[in-house]
Amino acid sequence: MWAVGFEKHGDPGVLKVMEFPDLRPGPGEVIIRVLATSLNRIDTIVRRGYPGIPVKLPHVPGADMVGYIESAGPGTDLGEFRVGDLVLVSNAWGCGSCRFCRVGMEDHCQSWTMPGFHVWGGYGELVRVPVRALVRATRGMTINELAVLPLAYGVSWKALRVANVGPGDWVLVLGDLGGVGTALTILAKALGARVIAVTTRPSLLRTLGVDVVVGYDKEELMRAINENTDGGVDAAIDSIGDTLPMALDAVRPEGTVVTFGVLEKSSTVQIDIRRFYLRHTRLIGIHNASGSYLKEAINFMVSRDVRPFISKSIKDAQSSMS
Ligand SMILES: [Zn+2]
Repeated sequence: MWAVGFEKHGDPGVLKVMEFPDLRPGPGEVIIRVLATSLNRIDTIVRRGYPGIPVKLPHVPGADMVGYIESAGPGTDLGEFRVGDLVLVSNAWGCGSCRFCRVGMEDHCQSWTMPGFHVWGGYGELVRVPVRALVRATRGMTINELAVLPLAYGVSWKALRVANVGPGDWVLVLGDLGGVGTALTILAKALGARVIAVTTRPSLLRTLGVDVVVGYDKEELMRAINENTDGGVDAAIDSIGDTLPMALDAVRPEGTVVTFGVLEKSSTVQIDIRRFYLRHTRLIGIHNASGSYLKEAINFMVSRDVRPFISKSIKDAQSSMS
């Protein structure tokens, strides 16, 4: 098999096409023939070297993938799947046996695995994953659209669900213009919420339907919140990290702040605990979505004809479908 990978950490120049022996599935595993993948921020961070979490080299990145099940390991129970099925792979699968995994909360497992990070990912011709990581792909989207769903749309859907975002709510998105920021915006709008986005590049978010766009300036943000909401946003979703104090200030009493994805900046911030508890603020930490959230996100998007935003496609994978 061929794969795009790296033998040492560094800038994009370390990526190269490499030949490897074909992957073989073990018990409980399948091999997926990859049709399309996508580029997420985590892929560039893994390439540069994630501080404190070494990967075994050579490494094949790629958190997202869509493809066909090519083969299954000896004695593997494929459950609802068959060889040849079009599938996505969840961004967090667990050990399969702890108290969280037993009830499908694999993202709460303390031995969770992420494709393209802990194991080889979607930048290869073939990928080996456990059956329990599979999510059925819908025919209601193109291959390229499916390929951007697992990370950005899975975790964004999870963030909006744990914050109970619904019609008429004000949601503050602190995620700039990346895959997660655009996914949060698209999904929040589709849920009937109104969105205030903090970004350095406002034009795209406006085309995605953001109601209010402000820069990374706390005074400007609080002015926008006072002008538009009744005492604060209902939910603030923060995937940046050092913006957490801003998110805590932006929510209404008993509002919800969801935080995740602090990948590059410092993960330490100072917050005013008194303001936090006097306002009955709910602060929820999450990380990668389990397969159940991804399934929910796909069903929601297909039922509402909600399409993911793709900034650039290298090749139309539809042409490679049999
Ligand atoms: Zn587990």
